[in-house]
Amino acid sequence: PAAKYDDFMARVHPEDQENTHKVLMDSIATRQPASLKHRLLLPDGRVKYVLECCECEYAADGTPRRIIGTSQDVTSEQEMMSQMLLLASAVQYSGEAILITDAENRIVTVNPAFTRLTGYEEAEVVGRNPRFLSAGRTTADEYAHLWNSLNENGFWQGEIWDRRKDGGVYPKWMSISVIRDENGGVRYYVAHFTDVSSERAAEERLHHIAHHDVLTGLFNRQALESSFDRIWRVLGRPDHFVEQSDGRRSVPGENYWLAVIDIDHFKSINDRFGHMVGDEILLLVSRLMSHTFRGSDLLYRYGGEEFVAIIAADNAKIAHNVFERVRLAIEAHIFPQVERLTISIGYCQAMQDILPVEVLSRADRSLYQAKQDGRNRVHSYHDLLASGVFKEQVCAEAEFF
Ligand code: GH3
Ligand code: MG
Ligand code: MG
Repeated sequence: PAAKYDDFMARVHPEDQENTHKVLMDSIATRQPASLKHRLLLPDGRVKYVLECCECEYAADGTPRRIIGTSQDVTSEQEMMSQMLLLASAVQYSGEAILITDAENRIVTVNPAFTRLTGYEEAEVVGRNPRFLSAGRTTADEYAHLWNSLNENGFWQGEIWDRRKDGGVYPKWMSISVIRDENGGVRYYVAHFTDVSSERAAEERLHHIAHHDVLTGLFNRQALESSFDRIWRVLGRPDHFVEQSDGRRSVPGENYWLAVIDIDHFKSINDRFGHMVGDEILLLVSRLMSHTFRGSDLLYRYGGEEFVAIIAADNAKIAHNVFERVRLAIEAHIFPQVERLTISIGYCQAMQDILPVEVLSRADRSLYQAKQDGRNRVHSYHDLLASGVFKEQVCAEAEFF
């Protein structure tokens, strides 16, 4: 028995009823077969998609008698299609640049975020090997590691430097996954990446802030501690270089000398002219010293008006001359307001078997002695030892060995 039209319509998903009715009525009016897709709402609440192809039969006088046709369940196709559309739009609207290559590593597709990031339109890149994007900074070894990881784990993640279409170079954080077919062969490589240059720049700024003094721009105490690690690692090894914080390399790391430098009677400058003037003079002293030391020497603001310098020198005499030149540069300078400003310096050689804190303390004791002896002078720990001023220290060392 044929279902009544209303019974049929009652099964159609409420949201699809209006359109379904319209298509069927049009088909009847125009005497054309109809095909349409709509949802069914089953009594248990499930939803199914059906594809219907139907046409109307008419009585001899032309009145429509019944609609006959086929109805095919297309629910699973429909679900797969919407899944695909969903995935496609996820790729399309992703904020991450996405690049997909085939098994021969030729680009199959890229998304709009890729175009925004690199400046290349999809049409310019399809079919090409993505290596044209490289900034040339990644070594052959690093690429070998990347492919190794892809082949073995099906995944790689890391930082790579690329070049944009406009020539600009940027670091990107990239993940690559291998998509395999049923037989385990490679079908696609899917890479997604973001530009991380702003993160890099922020990290560098933070590192800079953490290692520099705000007033003078010199390295700070924190930076001094990092330098200790680097310098002590290469002490006594003339074949090695010391990498400085700014990436420059200083002379072979055999003989290093550490000095503690303190401004003489600085407290009275503050007392007479105020802290603002004190700060200005501190800044001037630090500038003068930076200019007097060589580019490879390291200068730190250790605390208030105390500085530490680490220099490489072939022998004690050369080291002494460097520090003496710095003392003279300050003594010779005419500072505003202050008629005479001087510094005192105590220094000591850095040695592998003596801890950095001990070297620092020896330089500090030598500075104290320079203050005792009238200020505006440079004292060497080793000279004080040789001349017998630091007697106890000799005994302590004798016990030590
Ligand atoms: P000395 O010759 O024995 O070194 O005498 P001094 O007065 O310099 O004594 P000391 O080195 O012990 O005193 C350091 C003074 O430096 C204490 C403080 O008033 C001043 N000072 C420390 N840090 C700053 C700073 O950042 N700005 C200013 N304006 N003054 C500072
Ligand atoms: Mg002082
Ligand atoms: Mg001081």
